[in-house]
Amino acid sequence: MMLIKGGRILNPANYRFEAADIVVEADRIVDLVAPGSVSAEGRQVVDASDRLVIPGLVNGHNHAQTNLSKGIADRWTLEILLANAPWTGGRRSVEEKYLSAAIGACEMLRKGCTASFDMFAEFPLPTIDGVNAVAQAYADVGIRAALAPMMADRSFYEAIPGLADALPGPLREQALSIKHAPHAQNVAVCRELFTNWKFDRTQIRPALGPTIPHHCSDEFLMGCRDLGLELDVGFQMHVAESKMQAIVAQQRYGKTLVAHLDDLGLLTPGFCAAHGVWLDDDDRARLADHGCSISHNPGSNMKLGSGLADTRAMLSRGVNLALGTDGAGSSDNLNMFEAMRLASFVSRVHGRDTELWLSTQEVLRAATEGGAQALGFAGQIGRLQKGYKADIVLLDLGAPHYVPLNDPVNQIVHCEDGTGVHTVIVNGRVLLEAGRITSFDFDALRVKAAAAIERLTEVNRESRALCQQMEPYVSQFCSGLAKTPYHVAGFCQH
Ligand SMILES: [Zn+2]
Repeated sequence: MMLIKGGRILNPANYRFEAADIVVEADRIVDLVAPGSVSAEGRQVVDASDRLVIPGLVNGHNHAQTNLSKGIADRWTLEILLANAPWTGGRRSVEEKYLSAAIGACEMLRKGCTASFDMFAEFPLPTIDGVNAVAQAYADVGIRAALAPMMADRSFYEAIPGLADALPGPLREQALSIKHAPHAQNVAVCRELFTNWKFDRTQIRPALGPTIPHHCSDEFLMGCRDLGLELDVGFQMHVAESKMQAIVAQQRYGKTLVAHLDDLGLLTPGFCAAHGVWLDDDDRARLADHGCSISHNPGSNMKLGSGLADTRAMLSRGVNLALGTDGAGSSDNLNMFEAMRLASFVSRVHGRDTELWLSTQEVLRAATEGGAQALGFAGQIGRLQKGYKADIVLLDLGAPHYVPLNDPVNQIVHCEDGTGVHTVIVNGRVLLEAGRITSFDFDALRVKAAAAIERLTEVNRESRALCQQMEPYVSQFCSGLAKTPYHVAGFCQH
């Protein structure tokens, strides 16, 4: 039993901070009481005096395999990133898959994030050992995850009409020799994984991750849909992340990606679209009407030059909004405080009508309750409330960004950068104290990470050289295609 004593607690009803003590039994918040009204005797006491107490932040979109490739690239678009995936994430051992996931989980924990929707990629298809290694890493560090094996049955070069033809002959052959496993094999691995799931589903939930609609055949998408319904698991897909994707959807389907997914029956309350930059009003209406979520990932959208998503339009139409960092390969850090700050700022560049800007309260809600719903943990996490899981973050009021304390919610969203995170509790266990991870030996990962990079650099040398030969052709083709005018109703980007 635990007593979190003397703190200022975020009230989910009004987003104000109020003095209260939190009583935790096992993994749950069992009561919020007046300060000092419950005896500390026989309880583990967590001193929250001089702290703001918030629910653990929830990362709506992430990729475990990319933590070993953080900082690897500078001026890459999404398409250049995908073209380089064979070497940036290739030839990993099971231990390296665990290592990459553990580094990311530790970073999130250190920065006050206690749950993550993780699309973990392996090539040419997910493996039981790989997915279990990533789930084990989350379990060992102690934070929650919705873990979706990321899958495709078309390669990047098969997915984009005309791209392979833009490569010179020998390179075209090499590109077309990259083959993902057939859809039935992908679905079979997921079925086996999910029916024999080894982890506590309240901590690590399985989900399905067919990566991008046009990277998956319709048969594959329908196979995933049926498996999801049968085994009651959620979905995450990259949807309308780049302008290229929106244009390819018109070429392939003669309609938007969301309309296509809707027609195939994939949109359900368990569906979370990552990014949603290039959506129109009809797309948002379809997502909202089916109870879907969108993970808005402003850092990644800006770093890869994908565009600026219209979060006000999402909220106004009733889409559940979550926030994410995306993987360390595309936005490089996993800092949900930064994601909140950027989400707030990005909402303001659309125009001068301040009523349409996201408020800091809306942003904080997206990073907690919104994310909880997107991950399939609605009603379990995302609020400091009786009956909810004890996933709790204590922020140090002595940190410079709270001096002086004028408005806690504004300061959490606009000033906090993660350095004020003092204590993190997940599932009723203290995992981080005084800014140091206590549940896991992060320092031991450093040596392993250096060794892994040395090995991977060597085994991926040829693959890297080949990707670099292809890169200018990919870049030129995609830039050309992206010049196609594409007007998104209500919001035009270039
Ligand atoms: Zn992603």
